[in-house]
Amino acid sequence: MDNLWAPWRLRYISLLKTKPKGCIFCNMLAEGKDKKNLIVLRSEHSFTVLNIYPYNNGHVLVVPNRHVRDLGELNKQEREDLLNLLQSTKELIDKALKPGGYNIGINLGKIAGAGFPGHLHIHVVPRWGGDVNFMPVLTNTKIISQSLRTLFKRLNDANKKRH
Ligand SMILES: [Zn+2]
Repeated sequence: MDNLWAPWRLRYISLLKTKPKGCIFCNMLAEGKDKKNLIVLRSEHSFTVLNIYPYNNGHVLVVPNRHVRDLGELNKQEREDLLNLLQSTKELIDKALKPGGYNIGINLGKIAGAGFPGHLHIHVVPRWGGDVNFMPVLTNTKIISQSLRTLFKRLNDANKKRH
């Protein structure tokens, strides 16, 4: 299941080499180039970005703007905003990709598999009948049937239609 060819990953790895410092989420927020960074939604205190290491097609991350490790470090407004954005994100994926269900979760700490343990993020993984089971989804890479740019466009188009 590992080492499948995925051009966006190669691009991302080369990107990482040139910018090894700092927090990936804080960096993309500061940069303000949402299209380049694949940020699909923003709210007052949070944003939704495509996962460049997707477990499954349509895998996105809902992230608080503030660099905190744990939900407990967010204030009430930030937590509410994060949950509201999670809901909007789910509705957007419902509309754009029509999955059969979701795995939604947070990995807290490196031992739990958090890729970027310093900055809290909620995984939203849409699921379809016939895709892999959740455990292989969490531990291996797999073929992603749609490129991230195509996915970004689909979510963006669905978002435009909502307004
Ligand atoms: Zn950060």
